[in-house]
Amino acid sequence: MADTFEFEIVTPDKMVLKDVAEQMQIPAKNGYIGILPGHAPLITELAIGEISYTAHGTTNYLAVAWGFAEVLPNKVTILAESAEKPEDIDLGRAQEAKSRAEERLRANGPELDYERALNAVKRAEVRLQVASRVSARSTGAH
Ligand code: ATP
Repeated sequence: MADTFEFEIVTPDKMVLKDVAEQMQIPAKNGYIGILPGHAPLITELAIGEISYTAHGTTNYLAVAWGFAEVLPNKVTILAESAEKPEDIDLGRAQEAKSRAEERLRANGPELDYERALNAVKRAEVRLQVASRVSARSTGAH
């Protein structure tokens, strides 16, 4: 069996990434799923989380929110509402989104959509985490 599989990560705006991987973890609705070549076919809803994949001995990360994943033995297609590579994440924007949503939760006003605010915090936290992965990797090198 092949020791890699192809994958594509697509959002309504663009093709974010197309590559091959040796393994991948995706944030499915009911928890993270690990994918290796030859995985049994499945379709799953995605949650808010981090996609990680290993290719050529390096592990890479993306922030993703909502959508669907189709897993086939030799190909994974991620159709996400949003997906960002670490270098495309605007740290200031994520920090502001997180503060705004936390402030809404703290204020607990009559208009509060609790679920929505909580999800905004989660999206921002995942973006901050994925963005920090890049500096961890570059400072860790040599
Ligand atoms: P914000 O309140 O800052 O818009 P959000 O979590 O509500 O954050 P989304 O609705 O998840 O934003 O995303 C809208 C679009 O903006 C998507 O295309 C997403 O990739 C992009 N985006 C959101 N936050 C960031 C960020 N911090 N860096 C880069 N792109 C971002």
